[in-house]
Amino acid sequence: MTSAGIHHITVLASDPQRNLDFYTGFLGLRLVKQTINFDAPDVYHLYYGDEAGTPGTILTFFPFLDAARGKRGAGEITAVAFSIPTGALGFWIERLSRKAMAFDGPHTRLGQNLIAFEDPDGMVIELVEDADVDDIPGWAESAVGAAPAIRRFHGVTFLQRELDRAGAFLTGVMGFASEGSEANRFRFHAGPAGSHARADVLVDPHAPVARQSAGSVHHIAWRARDDEDQLSWRSALVKAGSSPTQVMDRSYFHSIYFREPGGVLFEIATDPPGFATDETIDTLGSHLKLPPWLEAQRAMIERHLPPLAIPAVQRAREAGG
Ligand code: ZN
Repeated sequence: MTSAGIHHITVLASDPQRNLDFYTGFLGLRLVKQTINFDAPDVYHLYYGDEAGTPGTILTFFPFLDAARGKRGAGEITAVAFSIPTGALGFWIERLSRKAMAFDGPHTRLGQNLIAFEDPDGMVIELVEDADVDDIPGWAESAVGAAPAIRRFHGVTFLQRELDRAGAFLTGVMGFASEGSEANRFRFHAGPAGSHARADVLVDPHAPVARQSAGSVHHIAWRARDDEDQLSWRSALVKAGSSPTQVMDRSYFHSIYFREPGGVLFEIATDPPGFATDETIDTLGSHLKLPPWLEAQRAMIERHLPPLAIPAVQRAREAGG
């Protein structure tokens, strides 16, 4: 079987308001869903993405208000890269400079230009100029304007102490192809040509063990076409000696979880039903949404969540603007 690419990436954070302000106000993503952690209802689950919440654009957060920072290390994803159009890097360098935010670069990696910087909790974000997204329109209402806006994920970097097991799992089980390497970075890709998801394995035999907390990537979800495709993945994983969970209902997709041999938590999530099931595309993200089985407890759940001020652009849409 061959992975169809990234569905979403989920990260741990601390202050939800600071997280929301950074990802919508600074990075220009859209808040496409406010809900809660189904396993811990006193914690938000915030979803950011493109205008429609398309798989391959969805970055989600569990913001634990007073969480300490995580410690980056082996066995986790240590950077999340987004694709921006050719020529957009200058805009972002100026934007970061104007806010006096530190950044690395620009650098060239495997033929593409990129910069790297941290989000407020220390997660490493990379913006990569990627000609494959030049023809994809940006979200017209993005806080940065459509032209330089983030289009979708470019890929992720896994930090591992050795390449062999992680690489063999990506190619042998997940259907990734090897794409090349640069120094201690080994690139794999999956998905259709022109919309590759890239998984870079960065090898450091002396990397410390990761300690996950705020700023740590919790897991990455790969796409399944539908429930049937997901069950085929599940059988293939079991056959390969992996131990995927049973299918879980995450309201907007169905999920199974398992760990790759290097320790990174993987999920396979279905494209359907998607985010426009309990609100319209126009009003995505404007209200706190709960799964049907928690709706009866809404008043209590809302009382325990920290207040959250939603970006003005989404409130205007809600009012019919
Ligand atoms: Zn997930």
